[in-house]
Amino acid sequence: MAGRGKGIATMGTVFETTLRYRSWRPHTENKTGAQRYERPVYDYTSKTSPCREGCPTGHDIALALLLIARGRPELAYRVFREESPFPAITGRVCYHPCEAPCNREQYDHPLSIARLERYAAEHAGDEAPAAGIAHDTRVAVVGSGPAGLACAYHLRRLGYPVTVYEASSQPGGALRHGIPAYRLPRPVLDLEIARLEAQGVSFRCGVRIGESMSFGRLREDYGAVFLGVGLSRPRRLPVPGADRQGILSGLELLRQVNQGAGLRLGRRVLVIGGGDVAVDVARVARRLGAAEVVMCAVEGASELPAHPDEVAAASQEGVRVEAGWAPLEVLAQDGALGVAMARVTGVQRDRSGAVTFQVDPADVRQLAAETVIYAIGQELERESLPEGLPAGARVAVGEWGDTALPGVFAGGDAGGTYNVVQALGAGKRAAIGIDLYLQRRTQADLAGRIGVGARGALSFSSYLALIAGRPEPTRAHVVAFPEINLDYFRPAARVANPEADVATRLAGFAEVAAPLDGRAAQGEARRCFTCGFCSMCGNCFTYCPDAAIAQRADWGFEIDLDYCKGCGVCVQECPRSAMTMIPEEES
Ligand SMILES: Cc1cc2nc3c(=O)[nH]c(=O)nc-3n(C[C@H](O)[C@H](O)[C@H](O)COP(=O)(O)OP(=O)(O)OC[C@H]3O[C@@H](n4cnc5c(N)ncnc54)[C@H](O)[C@@H]3O)c2cc1C
Ligand code: SF4
Ligand code: SF4
Repeated sequence: MAGRGKGIATMGTVFETTLRYRSWRPHTENKTGAQRYERPVYDYTSKTSPCREGCPTGHDIALALLLIARGRPELAYRVFREESPFPAITGRVCYHPCEAPCNREQYDHPLSIARLERYAAEHAGDEAPAAGIAHDTRVAVVGSGPAGLACAYHLRRLGYPVTVYEASSQPGGALRHGIPAYRLPRPVLDLEIARLEAQGVSFRCGVRIGESMSFGRLREDYGAVFLGVGLSRPRRLPVPGADRQGILSGLELLRQVNQGAGLRLGRRVLVIGGGDVAVDVARVARRLGAAEVVMCAVEGASELPAHPDEVAAASQEGVRVEAGWAPLEVLAQDGALGVAMARVTGVQRDRSGAVTFQVDPADVRQLAAETVIYAIGQELERESLPEGLPAGARVAVGEWGDTALPGVFAGGDAGGTYNVVQALGAGKRAAIGIDLYLQRRTQADLAGRIGVGARGALSFSSYLALIAGRPEPTRAHVVAFPEINLDYFRPAARVANPEADVATRLAGFAEVAAPLDGRAAQGEARRCFTCGFCSMCGNCFTYCPDAAIAQRADWGFEIDLDYCKGCGVCVQECPRSAMTMIPEEES
């Protein structure tokens, strides 16, 4: 049976039982007769919520939301920080894959998890002290995007001295040079990075590895190297005339704007691309004063790769989306540019994200613009990789971020992720991989032991517990909607996400999404079913007809098996599936 092992309850001797069933009392004899053939167990330590499974960095959302609901956002922040360094950032820019699988979706509306994460970060309490240095071996991280910074953060928690090398003059990667300030204000990013520095991560900015310093030197000086170099090169527009003046890449534009450059784009701007970067470029162009911004994508309106919320926000801000058109050629036209566009008849996207499409050559139109900006994907910069490291469109990485070169690990977009939270998860995975490598630890079934659910998310706190000799149960059971006792939950609308009005937005780069106030945040958090976790509501205790349930000193309850008849009322009345009935013969 999963999790069976140390400390199995034997008659009256051991209090802690199996790893999986953390709480029942020792018993000497069954004083209620021999009718019991099933017994209740609190098995929430082996369960997880579907939102947590859906979060690529494995945040313990049920616990964090419970703490917010109880008015302790500063503790919720700490819960988020157990699994990733940047709740203030993911609370703003994460595309929240945790929300779609939320069980509440099948009842009324999913929880607004990202907004609550941001709320927790806005109420962060005192900082945890810097982790001590536990190892002599130093680790180098190349690239300071979310993958590199997550890797550095978790390695520091493991006690390694870590230095982050960054080619740009400031750390942050695409968080700084890509994502515009109206979605991620720079003071927020600066504060999160300052926290990493306070925890002992060293930064060397303005150092491009492979140029200012060789990879060979890095590998000699450090016990392990993590490559989080991202996809820094824009994919070029493959049409005649693409090198004309007035055409630039979206990454270039965003980098300049994010460095404070005041650019003049003219009245009409044409953005080529249908992804999130294209949407950001279009929204930035509106803020730079372009009156007419048109975004052309080869995909159809319902298949745009950009997140629907972002497309909707761009539309509100006056961006026109022309879906299903592909550029054929860029021409000079009366002091401006003219782009010949053809109607797209079919689109295919391969696993690397590369798009191929077919057009109808008879259905062509021309769009005029002073500036044309293309945002059609990004590529690896081969110069940012050590010699001898095989790489196609991405660097090939193993389960723990390991590459073909011993001691060299990689992750984030360079290794196959597509967004911030995936990059954070990849950085964490590689930090564990580096620890396994440096400490020569065995990897057998590790992903199963520290995984949350079946989608690849890992729990770093479970890893810390494991290497400290306190292994936790595997969290393979993802609590499904039918396991929730709906009698205890009233329908309630999802919190409205407040936003700045369009005129305020277009006047500059002020943050669009407004914070939740305490009342709204607590109200929203109270909607959470707390799937698969004991919230200490006490229903089991209240309903037990034999008073066989007692409250534990730390958290949760325990069952006195001397008196439990196995009626199952406690399990039936648990609102959130924190308990299960198991056959009497199982221990
Ligand atoms: C405009 C834009 C908007 C986005 N919006 C969102 C969003 O809203 N939500 C979301 O989830 N994702 C978003 N993304 C995607 C997300 O930012 C990336 O998936 C994520 O940043 C990837 O993280 P990373 O650490 O792998 O790489 P990056 O963030 O790209 O960081 C790589 C870093 O490595 C540095 N580097 C490269 N080579 C070297 C070298 N040789 N030596 C030293 N340093 C080097 C680079 O300068 C860079 O700082 C957006 C991306 C862009 C471009
Ligand atoms: S990081 Fe993203 S996926 Fe994870 S809990 Fe936050 S919003 Fe959800
Ligand atoms: S109800 Fe709460 S715990 Fe359950 S899936 Fe939704 S956010 Fe997660």
